[in-house]
Amino acid sequence: MTSLSALFSLPQHRLERRHMALGLLLMFALVFGASLFGVMTRPEGFLATLWPANALLLGLMLRLPWLFSALGWVGALVAYLLPDLILGTAPERSAALVLANLAFVAVGAAIFRRFNPGEARLDTPAVVLYILLACVGGALAATLFGSLLVRAAAPEMFSAGMLHMAGFWFSSELVNGILFLPLMLVRFERRSGLTNARHLAPRSLPLVLLAASLLLAVQLDGPGRMGLPVPALLWCALSYSVTTTAILSSLTSLLMMSLISGTLTGETESHAYLDALFSTRLGIALIALGPLTVGCVNTARNDLLQRYQYLASHDHLTGVLDRGGFVGRAQPLLNLACERQNSVALMVLDIDHFKSVNDTHGHGAGDLVLQEFARVVEQSLRKQDIFGRSGGEEFSVMVEGVSLQVAQAMAERIRRSVLEYSVTLADSGTVQVTVSIGLVWYAAPVSNELDQLLRQADAALYAAKTEGRNRVVLAR
Ligand code: GH3
Ligand code: MG
Ligand code: MG
Repeated sequence: MTSLSALFSLPQHRLERRHMALGLLLMFALVFGASLFGVMTRPEGFLATLWPANALLLGLMLRLPWLFSALGWVGALVAYLLPDLILGTAPERSAALVLANLAFVAVGAAIFRRFNPGEARLDTPAVVLYILLACVGGALAATLFGSLLVRAAAPEMFSAGMLHMAGFWFSSELVNGILFLPLMLVRFERRSGLTNARHLAPRSLPLVLLAASLLLAVQLDGPGRMGLPVPALLWCALSYSVTTTAILSSLTSLLMMSLISGTLTGETESHAYLDALFSTRLGIALIALGPLTVGCVNTARNDLLQRYQYLASHDHLTGVLDRGGFVGRAQPLLNLACERQNSVALMVLDIDHFKSVNDTHGHGAGDLVLQEFARVVEQSLRKQDIFGRSGGEEFSVMVEGVSLQVAQAMAERIRRSVLEYSVTLADSGTVQVTVSIGLVWYAAPVSNELDQLLRQADAALYAAKTEGRNRVVLAR
């Protein structure tokens, strides 16, 4: 499992041989499995309705660009040919079909990478457009190859006439591409729970509505029902991750496709039937792009929101919480301590004679000292302690659930770590600073006024300064 996640998360130059072998094996299994499924469900002497292999291979190659190698293509070729070989398809027909499949993947990849040369992932709305363009280009290439090669190898497949068959082929490739390619481009890492429609209703309601609209679609007649699940899918796109949306949207399209294709009348290979199938499939596949786009827009918006939330609560220079970020985390902790009668400690830290660091070594050196100071203090704290920069060379720490002795020991440890640390400057000179700390501790705080606690710690800090600096003073 770890090798698998490394395969998709490590940059190419850090992949080891075993990762690459795993990637090749995965590709082979995916193409072989999907082709076997396609060949087994393919009507005799005709094209498969469901052919996920091309889109899956294209998606995997976009995720793992190093698969674009001689070895990758040969592996894919064998994986495509094997099911036909096992199930006894005529070799010249099988070879022509495989070349059409590879044409879809090669042209689709070239188009997608032309617009999106970096990491291919479903996280911006533009990616949906690239998916569409890649699938249209790939489908055209496969149709062209198919029409030329397959017609020569298996003319009986073209009994409905060249144009109708080409249209059918194109729509088939396009639909399979649009339905399966997004599934290969989903993000693997866990997403934060930021969504914008959640407050409207219970989390499962969009899914329930989707199921209800699908049930209704099964009951109704006519092609208009293909639009029925759209509102529910759009709501899903606003409520769930883009991964879930892509899966739901593909499943819905598959269901719609089998539902509506099943009611089309006419000879299977007649013009009228092929044309009706063509428009049905095209309509359903293109409808699926809507929810996918909304999901991507939502994801991009949430990413941006998270980034701004981080920037709005963190200090640009040191990377620790800024004053607002500190209060935002410390206040709930203090409220909880009041409620549960837990002990709290608050420290206010101020670097001694910091102005002289700036005066002697320059402002840049002062900045470096602030950064290193924040790092040293952070290393003396536990994960759950809250640490922020209140401004200038002043920092605050809030600790919950420790005895007075432990709180004093923590403050003392910070003071000593700072004293023993020396910052190496760009000109390889060094600077050492000391810190004064005002500490206030309550076995069980009576008031949840953070300002009051900060004032008391400040008074203790002032005492530490007047008593000679480089010391910890406990507020009385
Ligand atoms: P004391 O021991 O009494 O705290 O003396 P001090 O020099 O540390 O305190 P003072 O308040 O006199 O000076 C603080 C200095 O911190 C003045 C200001 O220029 C500097 N300072 C504040 N913010 C920054 C910053 O972001 N970068 C740098 N390099 N200096 C800063
Ligand atoms: Mg100072
Ligand atoms: Mg100060």
